[in-house]
Amino acid sequence: MTGSRTQIGTHVTSHAPCFGDEDFAVADDRWKNGIELVAICEPVLYVCGGCPYRAACIRQVVPAKSLFTGICGGRIWLNGVIIHELPDADPAELPVPVIRKSCGTAAGSRAHRRAVEQQCPRCLPYHRPGPNPLDAEEQAAQQLELPDVP
Ligand code: SF4
Ligand SMILES: [Zn+2]
Repeated sequence: MTGSRTQIGTHVTSHAPCFGDEDFAVADDRWKNGIELVAICEPVLYVCGGCPYRAACIRQVVPAKSLFTGICGGRIWLNGVIIHELPDADPAELPVPVIRKSCGTAAGSRAHRRAVEQQCPRCLPYHRPGPNPLDAEEQAAQQLELPDVP
């Protein structure tokens, strides 16, 4: 994790298994893109697996709104977007959904997704996974490795 959680300093901070672990507080100059960020964070992400504060961690950091980058609540975030998560990451750990006029439509579902909050019951049937910025990075990296076409 970086920044905000250590500054707020609530019960989540002081009792969390990641407290004081420098590998959770990834300095900005240690990574240049999402692939490098995941390479640093993924080896320590397992610590969130046994953490009882996952939902509280997300409530406290509000990663989507704070455009958080780092590890929070069993997920790796890049500018407020989840780019990698533990296999047992539960959507119920995300903030409760804001009910909007668009609820009950695909647009409503997308609004929940953009806010990285739970889907409301009416939007759930429309839910589709969003694009992961990491996929675009990996595609770009693979294209760079392709030999030049004569
Ligand atoms: S969920 Fe992960 S990042 Fe959050 S307090 Fe627990 S161990 Fe730390
Ligand atoms: Zn909804």
